[in-house]
Amino acid sequence: MGGSDRKRRLAEGRDGPNPSGKHAKYAIEDGKLVRKGESCPECGDGVFLAIHADRKSCGRCGFTVTTVASE
Ligand SMILES: [Zn+2]
Repeated sequence: MGGSDRKRRLAEGRDGPNPSGKHAKYAIEDGKLVRKGESCPECGDGVFLAIHADRKSCGRCGFTVTTVASE
């Protein structure tokens, strides 16, 4: 690990709040913080699908669902 990571800025530019809010991972419902992550249908609750740009996938069983936005 070099010490020259100070140049490592937000090159990806996706770390901040998502303006679109379409894939917000959390929401307040009934005054509680609710995870909006989708549970894996194969593994059940507690195992969330990893959100990718065009799909969601389970890192445990490999379940994948395509989620291409229609816009
Ligand atoms: Zn799974």
